[in-house]
Amino acid sequence: MRIAVLVKVVPDTYVDRTLSLETGLADRATADLVLDEIDERALEVALRHADDHPDTEIVAVAMTPEAGVTSLRKALALGATSALQVVDERLVGADVVLTAEILAAAVQHVGFDVVLAGDASTDGSGGAVPAAVAELLAVPAATALSEVHLSDTEVTGVRASDGAAVRVGAPLPAVVSVTEALPEARLAGFKGIIAAKKKTIETVSAADLGVDPEPADAARSIMIAVSERPPRTAGTKIVDSGDAAERLADFLVENRLA
Ligand SMILES: Cc1cc2nc3c(=O)[nH]c(=O)nc-3n(C[C@H](O)[C@H](O)[C@H](O)COP(=O)(O)OP(=O)(O)OC[C@H]3O[C@@H](n4cnc5c(N)ncnc54)[C@H](O)[C@@H]3O)c2cc1C
Repeated sequence: MRIAVLVKVVPDTYVDRTLSLETGLADRATADLVLDEIDERALEVALRHADDHPDTEIVAVAMTPEAGVTSLRKALALGATSALQVVDERLVGADVVLTAEILAAAVQHVGFDVVLAGDASTDGSGGAVPAAVAELLAVPAATALSEVHLSDTEVTGVRASDGAAVRVGAPLPAVVSVTEALPEARLAGFKGIIAAKKKTIETVSAADLGVDPEPADAARSIMIAVSERPPRTAGTKIVDSGDAAERLADFLVENRLA
């Protein structure tokens, strides 16, 4: 089985992230880039399948700035067989539709029985890319699964919804997205890190995939305005002199919080 795992490379959430006030995009030039944690979980689903089925091939696929190659190296160290990186300056600020067009072309380029993805990225968090990729590939989408079981012919799983667990299934090929309920990725061992150095990372542009990022008739999302978050104002301190409860109640009413 060939599994393509969509891995987004995102600014590390453990450090301060900044938004460019010119473009409205995350400042990726200065940020520490990491594999999105939700995509590491998707990769773990593929790796567990490969643990039991040694003939499994896992290709990590990312559309990312050039510096994202380090994160793809990590995917290889964790156990992916190979990687495909789509790098193209014309993709800066790509919206969900363009991203899906690129990723659908990319997984067709590498070949797949299953495409695994996160349900929503940590930074863009649109949550629409996996379903859009499935639509473009004309295959079923089993999205937001908190349990995934892969066989040679189908994927089954569970989607948690309000007050119910929905069992879903689809014949392969299919696109599957996973939630945070799935286990975290394993740690990369020394052997994996060394092995990753010999694995292949193919780099392609949008043109190599046959996608034109700026066709004249495309309806693309555009950023209309971006502004800095206003600084926090000093809070109100209530010191109890016997009337704290009353003053707290007044504060809640005044600020329409009650
Ligand atoms: C040079 C360059 C600069 C970029 N700058 C930004 C930026 O500043 N902010 C930003 O949010 N995005 C940026 N991107 C990426 C792209 O614009 C977004 O990936 C896209 O809009 C998807 O939106 P989302 O994160 O809301 O997707 P979601 O639908 O929330 O993502 C769900 C899942 O889809 C998959 N996926 C989504 N995007 C990618 C991807 N790029 N590669 C592989 N898998 C993916 C992952 O599995 C993810 O968990 C940049 C891309 C390039 C090439």
